[in-house]
Amino acid sequence: MMMQELPLIAGHFVAARWRERMLDSMALAHYQEQRAQRIVAYVAQHAPFYREHWAGHDVRAWRTLPTVDKQVMMQHFDRFNTCGIQRDTAMRVALAAEQSRDFRPILTGLTVGLSSGTSGHRGLFLVNRAEQAGWAGTMLARTLHDLRPRRLRVAFFLRSNSNLYEQIGGLLLQFRYFDLMLPLADAITQLNHFRPHIVVGPPSLLAMLAQARISGMLQIGPERLISVAEVLEPHDRTQLEQVFGVPVHQIYQCTEGLLAISCQQGALHIQEDLVVLQCEPLAQPPSEGDTTEELRVTPVVTDLWRTTQPIIRYRLNDVLRLDARPCRCGSAFRVIQAIEGRCDDICYFEQRTGGLRPFFPDTLRRMILLADACITDYQVLQTRVGQMEVYLTLAADADWAAVEVRVQASIEQILAHYDCLAAHVTIEQGILASTVGSKRRRVQCRVVV
Ligand SMILES: [Zn+2]
Repeated sequence: MMMQELPLIAGHFVAARWRERMLDSMALAHYQEQRAQRIVAYVAQHAPFYREHWAGHDVRAWRTLPTVDKQVMMQHFDRFNTCGIQRDTAMRVALAAEQSRDFRPILTGLTVGLSSGTSGHRGLFLVNRAEQAGWAGTMLARTLHDLRPRRLRVAFFLRSNSNLYEQIGGLLLQFRYFDLMLPLADAITQLNHFRPHIVVGPPSLLAMLAQARISGMLQIGPERLISVAEVLEPHDRTQLEQVFGVPVHQIYQCTEGLLAISCQQGALHIQEDLVVLQCEPLAQPPSEGDTTEELRVTPVVTDLWRTTQPIIRYRLNDVLRLDARPCRCGSAFRVIQAIEGRCDDICYFEQRTGGLRPFFPDTLRRMILLADACITDYQVLQTRVGQMEVYLTLAADADWAAVEVRVQASIEQILAHYDCLAAHVTIEQGILASTVGSKRRRVQCRVVV
């Protein structure tokens, strides 16, 4: 099967490289508009859900069509896709794959997958072979950059594999999937044997590998690390780069599409020839050291390629910070300065003047990490407005009592600075255990505002 797809994948590889180099901002806008018109016309004809959803709207004005989101997609799954696949059938195939850990299920020629949702809302995705080949070719074109061409060994840590990933293997790459559920000691042994050039995984896993590298158990010397699936915070990135002495790149991808990939310079570029991100500004939050060049937004995604499960004006629940500065690499694709987390994880504090003030995950991170250099990791949990539970791990020689005082003071000071009432803050030692294989979320808000 794979051999048949080779020319397709190679074609997408070349096309992706070409577009990246040739599309300046004018050409890009034209390109997006053309593809969007085509895909929207196709979807209006083939996806019953969208047809009804857009009733009474001019589909040519696609930028203002009514939005959808994960809930809507899952609720109307059967008519949301263009192949008439029932949600129950797709779910059964995907769950069976999860249980057997055999990720080659195909449903009438389509690949079915389950996304690793963080909130219990797991997304189902469907892709056909052409889409799969397009994904593989583009992914290779955009992630390998300047790595010397040879048969690169790639270790890929994922919660679940998919034949989406398997397909990349065997081409330019020797690709090995590592189950995130694999005990760390076993993963280390296998990695030492495999000696990967590239390690791909969630930053929480990469951090464990860094610890193993420091202790001498892990002996690999990868040329690049790629962070996926979780928020990569700046201090994690710095630590990983220090331990391994190589760049850490990112792939920002979800059920809704391949949204952004780091360029050679390490800047995270929106893949604007694959998706259109219409960015809606969020209330500008209080954050020390923010520059006016950075704007917090939440994206509405339109995938310019996918026809099996079309993603048109899909509201994504993520908080992004855009960088207005052009990248040194010369690409016209916009740069994401940071993916801060989910809109759900914005915490709220009461203002002196009444009303609530949102604090974004990044602000909370600064509040805590900048309070004391001994803090090695943290978590924040808010279960009601004005309250906050902080969990910390400290360097071995740290003075717990002193750190506690400093963190309390930092939180108090920053809340006061932004005109908020003092919060009820508890600080505890040790990070909350998370379920194996689940995504790490350092900031969690469980308040419904
Ligand atoms: Zn760049």
